[in-house]
Amino acid sequence: MTPPLDDADRRYERRHRIAVGGMGEVWAAQDTVLGREVAVKVLKAEYAADAGFRARFSTEARNAAALHHPGIASVFDYGTEGADGSPYLVMELVDGKPLSELVAGGRAVAPERARELALQVAEALAVAHAAGVVHRDVKPANLLVTPQGRVKITDFGIARAAGDAAITRTGEIVGTPHYLSPEQASGQPATAASDVYALGVVLFECLAGRRPFVADTAVGLALAHLREEVPELPATVPAGLAAVTYRALAKDPAERYADGAAIAEALREAADGGMPAGPAPTRVMAAPVAGPVPGPATRTTRTSPVVAAVPPARERDRDRDRATPWAAYAVAALLAVVLVALLLTRPWADDTDTTADPSPSPSASATPSETAAEEPTTIALDPDDYVGRPVGEVQAALGELGLDSTTRPVENTGDGTEGEVTSLSPSGDVDPGATITLDVLGAPPAPTPTPSETATEEPVEPEENGNSGQGNSEDRGPDDQGKPDEKGD
Ligand code: ADP
Ligand code: MG
Repeated sequence: MTPPLDDADRRYERRHRIAVGGMGEVWAAQDTVLGREVAVKVLKAEYAADAGFRARFSTEARNAAALHHPGIASVFDYGTEGADGSPYLVMELVDGKPLSELVAGGRAVAPERARELALQVAEALAVAHAAGVVHRDVKPANLLVTPQGRVKITDFGIARAAGDAAITRTGEIVGTPHYLSPEQASGQPATAASDVYALGVVLFECLAGRRPFVADTAVGLALAHLREEVPELPATVPAGLAAVTYRALAKDPAERYADGAAIAEALREAADGGMPAGPAPTRVMAAPVAGPVPGPATRTTRTSPVVAAVPPARERDRDRDRATPWAAYAVAALLAVVLVALLLTRPWADDTDTTADPSPSPSASATPSETAAEEPTTIALDPDDYVGRPVGEVQAALGELGLDSTTRPVENTGDGTEGEVTSLSPSGDVDPGATITLDVLGAPPAPTPTPSETATEEPVEPEENGNSGQGNSEDRGPDDQGKPDEKGD
């Protein structure tokens, strides 16, 4: 029997939920028409009715579908399902785990491996940039690493084709503050160089085992990207690779590599401790803007009234305030735009902190004026709060905390309930960008009909119900989110 093409539930049989992200859920599914495994990303029910989210979602579909590269998760299909027309996106099922998991807990990646990972991302971004698409949310959670060490970029959800004005004004400032370029932080449009900056942050994080900038609030973090000097990388990082990283992190986009192709070239030249060609970048270039700066092309209109209205930015570890008009302007624009964004949509709520407070209270993120503080922000995850609960419930709870999660089936020897979470990793004080891997009990050992037969009988609920979904987890085989430590670093 051939299922109707427009019926997602029938053509794409969902098998189990891989992850709950910011915008949607990602499911492993079977394409019953072509007979292959796919990943289906479904816009979260609470967003399905929102025109803005729907637009973003279809933007992702269109942008990603236009790009063909082994480093970009391919898009196969897009459609809507159900009476409410919830959109879904069908993608290549990537066997891998997010880079955020590999660098969780302050693990650094060996320099050569980090260079190689960054090079793959750069090459994939080069293809997007050549097609006029800026990703705008490059971060470890959106970089899937396969057991073979290949990287695939996902989540073109907030990517935008150059010249496409479809996204709202608050949509201008999107992306995770940890990886947010200074120009995005100050409310200017992202360019290919903004993706280069984000990749620079990722590279720094891989090399150093920590992010270059930390702060308690989104605003504090954005300010740090605008004004703080990039910390020094460990001495073990070869000079050439460090130079590429610092240059990618230059405050002024004009001083960075222009796009994915340019940084890819430099990363290739940095192989085996080589120095990239071109003007030798130094950390000085990555320092806060000093002296007259040829700012981004668009900064010309704001003048002193805005500047005068800016409260002095709070300093962190030392006084390096060299507030040029550009910097002051940027801070003003930043505060305005970030505040609006925070109050309205919190578009980065998917995987970052605006606060250390795990409570979803909006007020927690709406008081940015107080605290550009010193400590790294973490979210406390006590396994006792989650172990023994149904996976759907745990994923929802983690989602509330802004954490992504992935599941990993574990054998059920009979002493637990199918679909129950048996452990979380990482746990304790976890990084706000972390993806939490949940071990989930499979079906008990009792004799059951072959799973492939039962799979079609009961519809898998998109929400909650890890239980019903887990019943089918057996047939997906050893794909998706993988085994423990399939790839250390
Ligand atoms: P969101 O907009 O919700 O952040 P993402 O596209 O980043 O959506 O997906 C969230 C998570 O789902 C990823 O971190 C990854 O774990 C998983 N994922 C996304 N796309 C795929 C895919 N094509 N194959 C396998 N897993 C995927
Ligand atoms: Mg994502």
